[in-house]
Formats: sequence, structure tokens, C-alpha cells
Amino acid sequence: MILQPPRTIEAQQFDVRLTPVRNGENIEIVYRAYTPISQMKLPFPAEQFTHLSVSEKDDGIAIGRSGEGVALIGAEPFGLVSLLLAPTVETPAKDYPVAQFGNQALALNLKYFQPIEVNNQPVSTLNSEGAQFQWLGGSASFESPQVAIYTDAGLPTPVVSLLAPTAEALSAHFQQGFGTALPVRPSLMFLYQAGNDGQLSVEGDVVPGQAVIKYVGGAFQEATPEMQQLVLRNLAHEMVHLWQLQHPKNATAPDWLHEGIADALASEALYISGVWDDAQYLQALTDARSNCAQVLATGTVRGAASRGHHEASYACGHMAMAALATRHEEGTSMAMWRAFLDYAARQDQPLSEDTFFAFAEEWAGDRGFALSFRSFVTSNYRSADGESIVDQLFAGTL
Ligand SMILES: [Zn+2]
Repeated sequence: MILQPPRTIEAQQFDVRLTPVRNGENIEIVYRAYTPISQMKLPFPAEQFTHLSVSEKDDGIAIGRSGEGVALIGAEPFGLVSLLLAPTVETPAKDYPVAQFGNQALALNLKYFQPIEVNNQPVSTLNSEGAQFQWLGGSASFESPQVAIYTDAGLPTPVVSLLAPTAEALSAHFQQGFGTALPVRPSLMFLYQAGNDGQLSVEGDVVPGQAVIKYVGGAFQEATPEMQQLVLRNLAHEMVHLWQLQHPKNATAPDWLHEGIADALASEALYISGVWDDAQYLQALTDARSNCAQVLATGTVRGAASRGHHEASYACGHMAMAALATRHEEGTSMAMWRAFLDYAARQDQPLSEDTFFAFAEEWAGDRGFALSFRSFVTSNYRSADGESIVDQLFAGTL
């Protein structure tokens, strides 16, 4: 008997394409349905619904809340409709923002705009490209076989000049280190907001094949060591995530492990690929050490993410990885991470805390060290001296 896969009737019957464009202050999302439709539902957050409207030229199409999303209903079937997204749209509490605005460019999260229902019937992903972030800010400022870079018009030159050479060097490093190229050339999108004079802050979102990095602050205008260190560390960190996301079990890794190894691999990559010299690499380790020592006072490393102390996941996760990696003759975080992925695959285990603790014992070849490592992640050192706890992590005496 030949089993036929279920036919994707929806996609064939209700082929709806969306095209986002800038329209003055607003963002216009144009939907074209190849067969006219009478209803369409989007997973756009219902509580943000007032920021979305139907273009005035689209008479007879109403928009309203529908459950957790937003629905459009036509008095008559329609084949074309334009939605306007106001630049005042806010970030939902959970998940990635609807749109991230820079100086002139923006990154739109298409996830919230792909129809989930057409003519009251559920439909699956209609976007054939599969890209989640849409850059609205002009063409790529740099393209190579490894990477495409999109930069906001106002992004300060001292930042721009760092990006392409570093991204190229890191791509080569990670391809070799992870043992695989990414399935598609990644797009790296960089937004900028002036913020306050001395401000120097950055945040990044990564989905498969795409990273959106947003710099905020006047301190990006000058090529200070602090600015360069931050930009490079963040770029390398987000690029590690691009490779991590390729792993089928990536979502099973706890925050301290996922972020800790990203930070450790980022610093190591910048050093090995020659972007950082000895002093810069040591500075990054020293920064992580003192950040970790401080945030240990807020509670356990494993509970840091749920307390909102993401710095603890990064800094203490980095310390944990650095302490463990050197317990083996191969000695690098990359070799350790590859060995862990192999270990989990061999045992058919998720990339969980328990799998990692079991792996740590094998990697270190030392049960005492592995138990101390586990304590570092799971115990509460709130009333202890943070610096001394990090020292004991490295010594294996917790
Ligand atoms: Zn991260």
C-alpha cells in the first residue's frame, strides 16, 4: 500500500503572499490572495491590535480582535489588502518583538503577519522563503559567500568597520569548529538608536539563518576599547547561536548551558581567529568572572534565567564552560561542546542539565570535579563570597 501524505489543500486554494514596505512613518504589509478570500486571521498579538489598521483605500474590509490574534473580514471577497503598522507598536511581553526600529531601518517579525486562518480554515506557513525577520532599510551593505550584512543608515562608522571583517573571520572559524557550514548564508541585521550620550547597550535576537542586533547609545560613536570589546563579543555570541540553532535538540538545553557555551565559544573564537590579542581575551574572561561573582549573590546559576538575571546565565555559564573545558587534554570549549553533542547523540539524550552533568564527569575524568561542577550550577551561594566560589569552581572544590 502506498501512503499518500496529506495534501496541503489550504496552501493551494488560498495562496496568500505578503510584502512589507515602508510607507512614511508606517509599515505597510500588502497581502495578495490569488483567489479572493473573505476572512483571514493573523497571530498578531491581540493586545497590540490598535497599532494595526486597514489602509483607507481598502473599503469594506474590517479588522478586529479574534481570540489571541487579529482577523480581517471583508464585506465582499477580496484579493488585495494593505495593513498599516504604526511605529508606536510595542514589544509583546514574551517572544520576539513585532518590529524593532532603528534610526532609519527596521526589522519586521513576519511571524506575526503570516495568516494562520483563511476563510475560517486553519492554514500552515504560506511563506515559501521561511525567513522570519524582514529587513526594511535598503540593500545589504556587505555580501560574501559566507554572510550578508545589513546596516542601519545611522550606524556609527567605528561600529560598521568592525562588522564585515569579524563576521568573515568568525564564519570560517565556526564552520571549521562546528564541522559544518550553515544551510543558507546568514543575514546579519544591525540597527542603531542614538539613546543617551554615554550609553553603550546591545541586544540581539537570533532565528535560523538570521540575526538582528540592535545597538543603543551615543558611546558607539567612538572607537573605544570598551565599545569594540562589546560589539565583537556580542557579534561572536549571536553567531554561535546561528550554529546552535541548527542542532535538532537545541531547545532542550537550559539557559545557563545554551548561553554559557555561546559566550565561551564567542571569546574563544575571537581569540583563536586572531581578532583579539591575549590582553583582550583575558579582559573578556576577567569581565565574565567578576560579573559571575556578582550575580551569584542573586541565587543559583540554574535559576538565573527565571529570575530575570540573564547576566548570570552568560557570565557564570561562561565560567562553568571555561573551568570544565580545560579539564581535558583537548582543552578548548569547541572541542568540549562537540564532544558533548556526540555524547548526547550516542546516549540518545536531550541536551539537558542531567546529560551535561553526566558528560562533565566523562570529559573531566574526575568524579570529584564533576560533583563540584554540579554544585556550582545548582547550589545557592547567596551568602558566600562570589569570587571565592568561582575560584573553587576552577579548583573543583565546591
Ligand atoms: Zn545568547
